[in-house]
Amino acid sequence: MDKEKTMMSALLDSIEDGIYIIDSSYTIEYMNNRMIELFGDGTGKKCHKIINDQETLCPWCHAEDVFENKQVKLEIYIPKIDKTFDLTEKPLEKPDGTISKMSFFRDISALKHREAKLRESEEKYRNLFEHVSVGIYISSKEGKFLDANQALLDILEYDSKEEFLKIDITTDLYVRPEDRRKFQKMIEHDGKVKDYEVEFKKKNGTPIIVSLTANVRYDHHGNILGYQGITVDQTQRYRMERKLKEAHDFMNKIIQSSPNPIMAADLKGNIIIWNRAAEKTLGYSAGETIGKMPITKIYPEGVAKKIMKMIRSPEHGGVGMLRAYPMLYVRKDGEAIDGTLSAAMIYDDEGKEVATVGSFVDLTERIEMERTLNQTQQQLLQSEKLAAMGRLTSQLAHELNNPIYGIMNTLELLKTEIKPDNRRRKLLDMSLSETVRLGDMLRKMLSFSKPDQEEKNFADINTIIEEMIILHEKMLQENSIRVAHELAEDLPHVYISKNQMRQVILNMISNARDAMPEGGTLHFRTSREKDRVAIEITDTGMGIPEEHVNRIFDSFFTTKDSVKGVGLGLSVCYGFIRDHGGDIKVKSQPEEGTTFTIILPIEKPGSGEEGNAAPPAP
Ligand code: ADP
Repeated sequence: MDKEKTMMSALLDSIEDGIYIIDSSYTIEYMNNRMIELFGDGTGKKCHKIINDQETLCPWCHAEDVFENKQVKLEIYIPKIDKTFDLTEKPLEKPDGTISKMSFFRDISALKHREAKLRESEEKYRNLFEHVSVGIYISSKEGKFLDANQALLDILEYDSKEEFLKIDITTDLYVRPEDRRKFQKMIEHDGKVKDYEVEFKKKNGTPIIVSLTANVRYDHHGNILGYQGITVDQTQRYRMERKLKEAHDFMNKIIQSSPNPIMAADLKGNIIIWNRAAEKTLGYSAGETIGKMPITKIYPEGVAKKIMKMIRSPEHGGVGMLRAYPMLYVRKDGEAIDGTLSAAMIYDDEGKEVATVGSFVDLTERIEMERTLNQTQQQLLQSEKLAAMGRLTSQLAHELNNPIYGIMNTLELLKTEIKPDNRRRKLLDMSLSETVRLGDMLRKMLSFSKPDQEEKNFADINTIIEEMIILHEKMLQENSIRVAHELAEDLPHVYISKNQMRQVILNMISNARDAMPEGGTLHFRTSREKDRVAIEITDTGMGIPEEHVNRIFDSFFTTKDSVKGVGLGLSVCYGFIRDHGGDIKVKSQPEEGTTFTIILPIEKPGSGEEGNAAPPAP
């Protein structure tokens, strides 16, 4: 019997539950090892003292029921050891017929703890689900919502979840039902969908753009049950984007419609803005420049760096500014354009340099206009001077003409009376030649004041030049002057007075001779320039000092002694050429030589008639 008892006790000790037995006076008769471990050995003591540290019965005590042969099952928490147990109590009939109570304490504290944790986390998620500002939902494959949070109801303007869970997703929610089929295809293929933008209908039918991010819900066998995910309302974002785009388009329109070229470049010089005026003025299209061409290309070499320096310095309108600075630009065709540049540095929010923007004003036309105006003014001045001189010289010439011819005739008469070998005859010849020279000068003065009203005709300039060269060949040779010519073939005939043209060429030859006392080369060149003919006469003489260049066409300006020059030659030539609707220009380099360029229109002024290339019979 003892052996049986020992075996029994060993068996009870091996059970994980705490077990104890009390008699009807609540005195502990037995505790297994686990029970002793939990509460200490209390055999022979009152159970409530051991278990609940109290003199009175435990609040959950059902011992009375058990002693009446009932089985009790309950869950109890024992603060003393901070544990929760599943308590099972059974009556135990002893051989003497008395009934004891056998209690089984199954420790479920860990389980309870886990449950509490789960509840807590569930609550957290529910909280999140309900209060997050994006819409969250769980839906079925067939197209019904199983759950949705308040945010989703708010986005779609549904009053209650109950009502929302009834709608048919495909037809009541999607503006285009095919979008849901597309969504299903994607999500079922990849297991998820990210930022899928689609149009939904609110309860009242108003469309809104939302973005969906979701994944698939599977059952235990891997079959698709439905989907769960978030829905973000994109209306605000789209509104912002539209506003931004509108602002951007507006800015772009302002830049594009500016009549002045506007361009911008990042700090590496990559072009980022190039408006229509820049395309027109500089010859490059926006397509060729933006992101493709460095801005440095539109400035002469090294200038771009200088501009950056000036923008950064405080001296040109403040740091980050450059105000109307004179600048030369290089067009696509290589031509340089005069203008001014106004530029500014663009900074980011932290004040870091990010780009430069510049606008320039093309001054080519203005500068050209100023130049023409200046030239016209000069010409007017010259004409006025000529007119005044004309009046004066005409009076003088008239007054002197008759007496001089009288003297000349008298001297000629005297010549017949004095034999050639007479010593006085030489003096007479000298007087006569000086008088002839005076007469010649008078003629010049007269033609200056009243140019020969000789009839003009179409004539070949080359022939006139050749004639004049032949006539003066000997004189030039004597002065060691070599003549070269480069006369354009097929030069059109020009509407001119031949005599005046001969006088002009002759004057050029005489001046060249005087400019080359040691000899040199006299070069004639003719060419056609559009609707004009140009005659270039170049000598290798002493040249004209810069301070004289603007005065050589003035009447009576001469650097020669009174025997050689009176200073009327060039002013007479100028008068003739202007009268032909042409112009004379001079280019000279002291000590190297001078080139006079005479320009004559081909057309008969005011008629539109043009001379032939083939010379008519003289
Ligand atoms: P003139 O020959 O009587 O001095 P012009 O009117 O023909 O008068 O010339 C005016 C001045 O222009 C000359 O005195 C001379 O100083 C200068 N000049 C004209 N042609 C030449 C030339 N080919 N080389 C250097 N100087 C020149």
